[in-house]
Amino acid sequence: MARLSKLSRSIAGKVAIVTGAASGMGRATAHLFADEGAKVAVLDISPVDPVVAEITGAGGIARGWQLDVSRKDDIDRVVAEIASHFGGIDILINNAGISLHGAVDTEDFESRWARSLDVLLTAQVRMIRAALPHLRRASDARIVNIASTEALGATRFISPYTAAKSGVVGLTRSLAVEFGPEGITVNCICPGPINTGMTERISQEHKAEYARRRVALRRYAEPEEVAQMTLSLCLPAAGFVTGATLPVDGGLTIRNA
Ligand code: NAD
Repeated sequence: MARLSKLSRSIAGKVAIVTGAASGMGRATAHLFADEGAKVAVLDISPVDPVVAEITGAGGIARGWQLDVSRKDDIDRVVAEIASHFGGIDILINNAGISLHGAVDTEDFESRWARSLDVLLTAQVRMIRAALPHLRRASDARIVNIASTEALGATRFISPYTAAKSGVVGLTRSLAVEFGPEGITVNCICPGPINTGMTERISQEHKAEYARRRVALRRYAEPEEVAQMTLSLCLPAAGFVTGATLPVDGGLTIRNA
């Protein structure tokens, strides 16, 4: 009997879409996937050329599309262009995100709620729906949705964010069941405190104090540490992992005291 089968740990040649790839975890994921030999579609509402230039300058394959993921028609157009440019789609990383703060009784709550749900949750299912015909033609198709530890616990004054991220967990589970018979895996990562654009306005002092009190590993993480876990879920060898909600949080959610 063979010692091991030959499950692949390579994504070389796969076509991967990463949303929110101009900054933070999305940028790190785009870089890492390109370093691993994937062809990467770099999507963001912000300019994408700098990240594409970084990747191609390092010898990787990437092309950028400037896209607001809250716009359904643009999603459908861009996903079709990606499939035609690269000849298919194997991997979708739903990562784009915003964090809008404010109490539930503030005047602009309704608009923050609508924008948060659009960008953080509805956009993910729209990206999945647009990519699905292509993922169905791929072997070892993978979807990873980026949620947050806000989906596992809660912080005051960001209820739209918390509600949307909790929705991402539910969406992930439901579609994992729906796509299971086709072998398409759908998983979700819940990052804890990470040094990205989203957290750059928090002072170093406040970050250190928060990490000391709450995080078992006593630090914020770098974006690449989340990207590595995203990559693991996308390997052909990870084919039996689906519907999982994986904290990458330095132990934030397991600490009682
Ligand atoms: P970031 O701000 O560095 O990156 C987010 C990217 O999403 C930006 O490039 C931004 O331009 C893009 N984006 C925002 N709205 C968009 C839209 N409508 N269409 C397309 N792109 C859009 O922040 P990050 O921390 O790297 O965020 C990545 C994901 O991680 C988000 O979903 C965020 O909610 C999640 N997250 C972050 C943390 C953290 O501590 N940083 C923790 C948990 C979860």
